[in-house]
Amino acid sequence: MAAPELRSGCVYLVGAGPGDPGLLSARALELIAGADTILYDRLIPPSALDGARADAELLYVGKEGGGASVPQERTEALLVERARAGASVVRLKGGDPFVFGRGGEEALTLRAAGVPFEIVPGVTAAIGASAYAGIPLTHRGIASAVALITGHEDPAKDETALDWAALAAFPGTLVLYMGVRRLPEIAAALIAAGRPGAEPAAVVEAGTLPTQRSVVATLATLAETVRREEIRAPSITIIGPVAAFADELSWLEPRPLAGRSVAVTRARAQSSELARRLRVLGAQVREAPVIRVNELPGPPLDPTPYDLICLTSPNGVAALFSRLAAGGRDARSLAPARIAAIGPGTARALADRGINADVVPERFVAEGLVEALAAVPVERALVARASEGRDVLPDALRARGAHVDVLALYETLAEPLTDDALAAARDADYVTFTSSSTVRFFLQAAGGEARLAQHTRIVSIGPVTSEALREHGLAPDVEAERHDIDGMIAALLADAAP
Ligand code: SAH
Repeated sequence: MAAPELRSGCVYLVGAGPGDPGLLSARALELIAGADTILYDRLIPPSALDGARADAELLYVGKEGGGASVPQERTEALLVERARAGASVVRLKGGDPFVFGRGGEEALTLRAAGVPFEIVPGVTAAIGASAYAGIPLTHRGIASAVALITGHEDPAKDETALDWAALAAFPGTLVLYMGVRRLPEIAAALIAAGRPGAEPAAVVEAGTLPTQRSVVATLATLAETVRREEIRAPSITIIGPVAAFADELSWLEPRPLAGRSVAVTRARAQSSELARRLRVLGAQVREAPVIRVNELPGPPLDPTPYDLICLTSPNGVAALFSRLAAGGRDARSLAPARIAAIGPGTARALADRGINADVVPERFVAEGLVEALAAVPVERALVARASEGRDVLPDALRARGAHVDVLALYETLAEPLTDDALAAARDADYVTFTSSSTVRFFLQAAGGEARLAQHTRIVSIGPVTSEALREHGLAPDVEAERHDIDGMIAALLADAAP
C-alpha cells in the first residue's frame, strides 16, 4: 500500500513511543516515510528515522542531557516557517506528544499562526516502561487510579507547582517522569506528607530499550537503591503496591551479561564508563584497579613550533591541556598544528575541549596511526604520551625526516589491590585488560603470579596488550577487533553469547 500523500503546509505532532521501534504506530511510520521535514527529539527510538525519505530534511531539536538545547521558541518558529513554505512537517517526539512533551504549546502556536495540524498519540513512557517491567499500573482491588507526575520540580522550593500532600494522599499509583536525580527529596517529601515508607516502589531505566533495567524497593529505600545501581535518565519511577508485581511478572529476556562477573583492572578514574556499561548489560562488575595515572610536572608547553601533535590517550589530552594552561594558553594555541588521535576515546577527550582531531586511524594502535599519517606532511611533530610509551610512532615519523619531540606527560603507577579485590578478580568469569600496563601491574599486585580461576577468561583490548599477556604466560581468550571500549564490550558480548 502506497503511503498516502501528506498535506503540504500541515504539521503532524507525532509520538514515537518510549524507545522500542516496534512501538511506533502504523500512522507514525507512514508519516515519517512521507514527510518533507522532520524535527525530532533525543528520546525517539534509535531507528525511528530509518524510513524517512532520502531527501527529507531532518532537524535535531533535542536537549543534550540537561545541557544546551534548541530553545522551544526556535522549534516552534521552525514548525511555522517550514509549514508556511509548503512543506509537510513531522514533529517527532519521544513517548506521547501531550504527556510532558510540550505538544500542547506547539499546537497552540500552530493554531495562533493558522497552520493546520494533526496529533498522533504515542505510547507514553509510563505505559511502555511499566509494561516491559511487568508492573500493571492499575490492578483490580489494588490500584484504581494512576497519576502521571513530573518529578522536575524541586520539593525544597516553596514555589513548587506540586502539592506533595495531595499526591501522598492520592488513592492509586504514582508515576514520576524525569527527576530521577531528585528522588531522595521527592521520596522524603511524600513520606513526610504521609505516604507509607514501606510502600513498594520501582524505577525503570531506558524502558522498552535493549538496555532496560529496573530496580524494585520501597519508597523509603528507593533513592539509595537507585544511587547504588547507578540508575540514570531516562527513567520513570512507579510508586504503589503494584510495583511489587515486577518480580512476579517480569518477562523480558535476561540481559546479555546477566549472571556474569567481569573484573575491570584499569585506573579507577577511567574505569567508570567501562564499568557502567558492563553493568547496564547485566554484568556484575568487580573493580580491581591496578594502575593509577599521575600527571608529570613540567614546564609550560608552547605548541606553536609544531605542525603535527599526536595524542595517544585521553589521559594525554588532559595532561596536555594542563601544560598549556600552565603557560596561560588554551585550545586556540593548537590552531596551527594538525592534531592526530590514536582512537575514538582520545578523539572524544579532544572534542570535549573543542578540538576536532584531524586524523583518527582505523586501527587504534600506534601502527594504525603511522599508516593514517602517511599522507600528512610533517616537519616538526610533538608526540605527547605516557612516560613508558612505545616508540613506534616517533621512530616512524623520524624515518620520514621529521623532527620529533616526545613529551612524557604522565606516568602510570601501580595501585595496590586489597586481598578481597584481588580474590574477586581472580575468580571472575572475565578479567579485562585495557593496556599493557594493566597487565604488568596486575601481575605485580598479584605477587608475580596471576593464579586465575579455571573458568576465568582473559579479555584483551588489542594486539599490544595481548603480547604483554603472553609475555607473562597468560593467553588471551578474547581479543577485541576494535581496540577501544566499544570493541572490547562487543568482543565480550560475542564470547558470552550462548
Ligand atoms: N513525552 C514523553 C515524556 C517526555 S519527558 C512521553 O510521553 O513518554 C522525558 C521523561 O520521560 C524522561 O525524563 C523519563 O522520565 C521519561 N522517559 C522517556 N523515555 C523513557 C524510557 N524509555 N524509559 C523510562 N523513562 C522514559
